[in-house]
Amino acid sequence: MRISDALASQRPFFSFEFFPPRDDAGSRQLVAAIEALAPLRPAFVSITYGAGGSTRARTVALAKEIQREIGLTVVAHVTCIGASRAELRALLDELARAGIENVLALRGDPPAGSQFVPVAGGFEHASELIAMLRRNYDFCIGAACYPEKHPEATTPDADLSALKTKAEAGADFLVSQLFFDNAQFFGFERRVRSAGIDLPMLPGLMPITNFSQIERFVALCGASIPPKLRVEMNARKGDVKAVEDLGVAYASMQALELLQGGVPGLHFYTLNRSPATRAIVSSLLAASAWRPFGPRSITTP
Ligand code: FAD
Repeated sequence: MRISDALASQRPFFSFEFFPPRDDAGSRQLVAAIEALAPLRPAFVSITYGAGGSTRARTVALAKEIQREIGLTVVAHVTCIGASRAELRALLDELARAGIENVLALRGDPPAGSQFVPVAGGFEHASELIAMLRRNYDFCIGAACYPEKHPEATTPDADLSALKTKAEAGADFLVSQLFFDNAQFFGFERRVRSAGIDLPMLPGLMPITNFSQIERFVALCGASIPPKLRVEMNARKGDVKAVEDLGVAYASMQALELLQGGVPGLHFYTLNRSPATRAIVSSLLAASAWRPFGPRSITTP
């Protein structure tokens, strides 16, 4: 199914991000995570493309397998990094032949410690990839957005203008970078709408299960951790279970507020693990938590 059709017909929806495993143990963990999360009927699962374009073959193989064997709708991430236009065309042709209908078009991150440099004959910005996709393929196209600004952008306005270029190039929907402060997301959403970008925007949530790992992620992606959350996490240092419990409880409250604020769905960065995401989504489903609060309609006899 195309994500634009899912967005029009299914509200709210949940989607889950996985990465291609590196070895057999990783494959077993991924299969277990997908088996645990598939019954929640995600609108789609997305498959990342390793830093520096390092997982190309595994991303394509996994995308095909999940769609064909498990029957879930797949969004394949595609990055510009390290690939010429001809190489990207070959990758996109392969995805189209495999029946993949959706791609998340990204510039990509270089391997840790290096700067992004476009290859000769490659693209410099995700918007160029999106424009090429729009001209030559029939994929439903997603793009990334950053509630707290992309780390390389000089100002929030410069980043917003880059996002507008991606929308104008032909993106169909947006998925946000992870964040832990909903006020940041809602403020960003207002600025996006004021800039005339009306694409559906899915907030990206990463339930905290390991605080030092999250601190590393946010240092790389430029997201912030609210001071009160940091205090509570630090108070549980060394108690893995207590950190996970707080992570699930916190993300559930974030998710509930986002749904009640009208977001079309939630995208979970699962890190190929199921328990936290399963607990959060199950609690939202059990509570029908997306129904907006407000005055009940009164029907007169
Ligand atoms: P762009 O939109 O090109 O933006 C990159 C930077 O350039 C920004 O600072 C932007 O403001 C600026 N910019 C853009 N266009 C212009 C322009 N015309 N002129 C001047 N400046 C401009 N990375 C991976 O390697 N693999 C993945 O699978 C992956 N999945 C992701 C999924 C999501 C939902 C998100 C949010 C990110 C993901 N990333 C992934 C990370 C992403 O590749 C990085 O954040 C990357 O640094 C930027 O990608 P982009 O597509 O947003 O790039």
